[in-house]
Amino acid sequence: MKKRVLRNNTKCVHAGNYYDNNSLGVNTPIFASTAHVFPNNQNEIRYPRAYNTLNQTTVVKKLCALEYGEEGLVFSSGMAAIATVLFTLLKQGDHAIFQSRLYGGTQQLINSELERFGIQKDYINSTNVSDYSNAIKKNTVLIYLESPTNPLLEIIDLKGIANLAKDHEILTIMDNTFATPINQNPLLHGIDIVIHSGTKYLNGHSDVCCGAVVSSRGLMDRIKLCAVNYGGVLDSHACYLLERGLKTLGLRIEQQNRNAFAIAEFLEAHPKVKKVYYPGLPTHPGHELAKNQMKCFGGMVSFELVCDFNAARKFAGNLEIIKPAVSLGGVESIMCFPAETSHALSTIS
Ligand SMILES: *Cc1c(COP(=O)(O)O)cnc(C)c1O
Repeated sequence: MKKRVLRNNTKCVHAGNYYDNNSLGVNTPIFASTAHVFPNNQNEIRYPRAYNTLNQTTVVKKLCALEYGEEGLVFSSGMAAIATVLFTLLKQGDHAIFQSRLYGGTQQLINSELERFGIQKDYINSTNVSDYSNAIKKNTVLIYLESPTNPLLEIIDLKGIANLAKDHEILTIMDNTFATPINQNPLLHGIDIVIHSGTKYLNGHSDVCCGAVVSSRGLMDRIKLCAVNYGGVLDSHACYLLERGLKTLGLRIEQQNRNAFAIAEFLEAHPKVKKVYYPGLPTHPGHELAKNQMKCFGGMVSFELVCDFNAARKFAGNLEIIKPAVSLGGVESIMCFPAETSHALSTIS
């Protein structure tokens, strides 16, 4: 039989679904059990921290379909996913390369934890592949990226970095939270591991904290061994909400893409706006690259006003629908000042 190629919106609704033959419901039931009877065949015993309960594996299948990965895991936060991946791959004496404009929490993890485990690092404040090439050492094991970055929406050449890393047998990790699998699929560009803060677009309703990792079966087997030890699992109820949120991911992102584009164009034409950062604008330095490697440009817009910080605060206070709040990717529009929120502890300007 010919294998059907599902489009994104169909995957969002149908991929990996679990149908319960007893209830005949169209939604995956919430299986609350943490204890499971011994199976009488060779199947492994289900346990939440073994990442093998039905609510976990069901939502993972949907994520794998969307990110074109073989295997995945869901975690209790994006940071649990990031920490688990980094500490699976890094050991004492290793060297890791990080893009410098990463999510503030990721920078904090890197800055506060790696050194005490004897792991060396370099931050690369550039989107040029050659600068990453120059930073590679004999003991470099991974390159860690975001694109578009938070909050300046810089774009990095995924294929370029992936090819460079393959030449040196280095792994590449990409936090794809900002793009979402609808706008960008890093694995298709040769990146080895894709991470999401599911708290943001994947769940999309600002009511679940979760994370996800998708990669090849071989790498996920390694990551899972470590994940079981760190224990950052997602419980069944949250898995169910994430699965429900994912059903509308495609529709939400298409609309958020359109809205962000309209806002970016409006702001760019406004005399009181100094600078707009949006990869969809032809004035953005990463625009051509974004056109090549992304399907659309995403729902995040950053901008600078022609005024001081106090006046910017006043501007934010005067907004009627857009609330000042930290996070992103939900159905409501929110705004924040990264310098005093997500990036307040960032050591890199
Ligand atoms: C929010 C965020 C994270 C961290 O995710 P949590 O779910 O808050 O732990 C990681 N990366 C990016 C790009 C984010 O926006």
